[in-house]
Amino acid sequence: MRFLSADYRPSDWLAHTKALKDEPEGGARCKVCYNFRLDAVAQKAQALGFDYFGSTLTISPSKNAQWINEGGLHIQHIYNVAYLPSDFKKRGGYARSVEMCKEYNVYRQCYCGCLFAAKAQGVDLKAVNREATAYVAQHQGDDFTGIEFHIQRQAQ
Ligand code: SF4
Repeated sequence: MRFLSADYRPSDWLAHTKALKDEPEGGARCKVCYNFRLDAVAQKAQALGFDYFGSTLTISPSKNAQWINEGGLHIQHIYNVAYLPSDFKKRGGYARSVEMCKEYNVYRQCYCGCLFAAKAQGVDLKAVNREATAYVAQHQGDDFTGIEFHIQRQAQ
């Protein structure tokens, strides 16, 4: 599975979420945010002719897998690609993701990228920026193509 990054357009995300800026993490703003992201992934998956699209967001203990899966199952009807429901945090999935990041030297940001949540949690964004910039400078040219993801379908 090859990693594809999307263009960084924070203003698009802000246009969808700023009316809900005072919502706590895990509240109504996140629901809108999940659907915004899932819609973009479904569009790309359809354009590339994939059978399924999904979300790694369910790895996080702070994210509501039920809302994410409901959004994905709804969005699959808009595009010609099926949604793969998940709750990757289960069965030690979250702990495994932390281990894998260490194993492959993948940078883990201390918040999910949300300016509103970061502000509420008192995250020092300048310090995060310095840390991330230093990581990128140190790891430019690293080859992450050896990282493999295996998804086992659970028995229904
Ligand atoms: S970026 Fe994270 S905290 Fe912010 S709205 Fe999205 S899921 Fe919620």
